[in-house]
Amino acid sequence: MPDMATEQKSFKFKVVLLGEGCVGKSSLVLRFVENKFSSRHLSTIQASFQSKTINIDDCKAELHIWDTAGQEKYHALGPIYYRGSNGVLLVFDITDRRSFEKVKNWVLEIKTCLGKSAEILIVGNKTDLEDERKIARQDAEAYAETEGAIYMETSAQDNIGISEAFEALTAKMLDRARTAPT
Ligand code: GDP
Repeated sequence: MPDMATEQKSFKFKVVLLGEGCVGKSSLVLRFVENKFSSRHLSTIQASFQSKTINIDDCKAELHIWDTAGQEKYHALGPIYYRGSNGVLLVFDITDRRSFEKVKNWVLEIKTCLGKSAEILIVGNKTDLEDERKIARQDAEAYAETEGAIYMETSAQDNIGISEAFEALTAKMLDRARTAPT
């Protein structure tokens, strides 16, 4: 009998976190990689680079996740941060209008630094604070669509939507990698 098992294809992707300080970037990574949450501001204590492998369909995707480590506050994200990125998680806080307005600046920066070479997932974080919501989901969705990005919402605190967000971004990166000319 022939062996019907299909061989798993392996991919490596660089994913960068972007967005204003305190929106929960490091918390999303900590929840995704270690399934932990801390009420402290993590940027200064969290490692700036982590990896996690996920399986989608017949593919194994090794994600190399770069966190800003607080440097976004000083506009100090140099070209090395962006170089070779396959995907961007652009995070804002649904209770903080300013963090959403700044998303437009981050999109401009992504387009300047990466052109169209990376998939963008815009994430509205802190959905556990629904009572304090300042940005309607449909407004964020409509904006993301104009930029050719996906929009998803998460709560790092309550572990809602995190693996779904990373999986959706990975699925887009896989689609692109599988259809890229060799
Ligand atoms: P960063 O500067 O964007 O990396 O943000 P951090 O991950 O350090 O989070 C900033 C603050 O927001 C910390 O006090 C976190 O505990 C808090 N935080 C992060 N995610 C959530 C969330 O989903 N819900 C709530 N309520 N707080 C969160």
